[in-house]
Amino acid sequence: MITTTVEATRQAVAAARAIGKRVGLVPTMGALHAGHLSLIQAARSENDFVVVSIFVNPTQFGPKEDLSRYPRPFERDVELCERERADLIFHPTPEIMYPLSFTTYVEVHELQKVLCGASRPGHFRGVATVVLKLFNVIEPDVAYFGQKDAQQARVLSQMVRDLDVPVALRICPIVREPDGLALSSRNVYLNPAERAGATVLYQSLMRMRQRIDAGERSADVLIAEARQRIDATPGARVDYVAIVDYDRLQPMPRLKGKVLVALAVYFGTTRLIDNVLMDVPAEPEA
Ligand code: AMP
Repeated sequence: MITTTVEATRQAVAAARAIGKRVGLVPTMGALHAGHLSLIQAARSENDFVVVSIFVNPTQFGPKEDLSRYPRPFERDVELCERERADLIFHPTPEIMYPLSFTTYVEVHELQKVLCGASRPGHFRGVATVVLKLFNVIEPDVAYFGQKDAQQARVLSQMVRDLDVPVALRICPIVREPDGLALSSRNVYLNPAERAGATVLYQSLMRMRQRIDAGERSADVLIAEARQRIDATPGARVDYVAIVDYDRLQPMPRLKGKVLVALAVYFGTTRLIDNVLMDVPAEPEA
């Protein structure tokens, strides 16, 4: 079933709940790929009623970003959702989500302004706002997100905790192409040369992981090496390479504990992100 209004969606979910079904939600912007499908599969395996929302959320795009050209292959998305046995697709218009009278936004301070938030001001405010709205419309027991957007996962878990939102979040692993490139709806923007160069994100992360496993603990050293590798890739331009603690997303000069290694790289106007989460043992005694 496909719904476009809040009322119809509430009714459909209420009918499922009335017969005791547990509800899982997978929020997406459509242009579904195997990464999204892995979330739907996780939701399918843990719930009785699976909702996939497909909404290209205007409030999370900056004025110079790709809102108007973001891919919207809706019919194909519907087919994929049906193949994965989703029960309901919520596909609202921007006017339904943001009527002219709309004025309320959710801000997750501190966490929203670093990493991707520094290059995309207002992005996480848009994300937090639309996800809270989806939670309020659907009231899922569990919601599924990808580790691909590590900062988003962290921002949303903070929001849920701070605002006592009664939902459990599941963060699912990153699905990759055979050469390591993380699947993304934006990969279709890449020309063949850019697509070839785009493996530098994963290669840089794997190299950093190797160096950390071999004992390197200096963030500056690791970041400089990764930047060098990316700078040497034709067409690639570093947005950021960061090593932060996964709780506060703050820089960590010497690595220790739960560490997020994250990067963002431009190819032309296409911005790609990737990350690895590591548990780093303390420095070996000198
Ligand atoms: P999006 O449609 O880009 O907003 O993504 C919807 C959800 O899919 C988000 O929770 C993303 O983190 C997740 N996602 C996107 N790409 C991947 C991937 N390659 N592997 C796993 N999850 C992903």
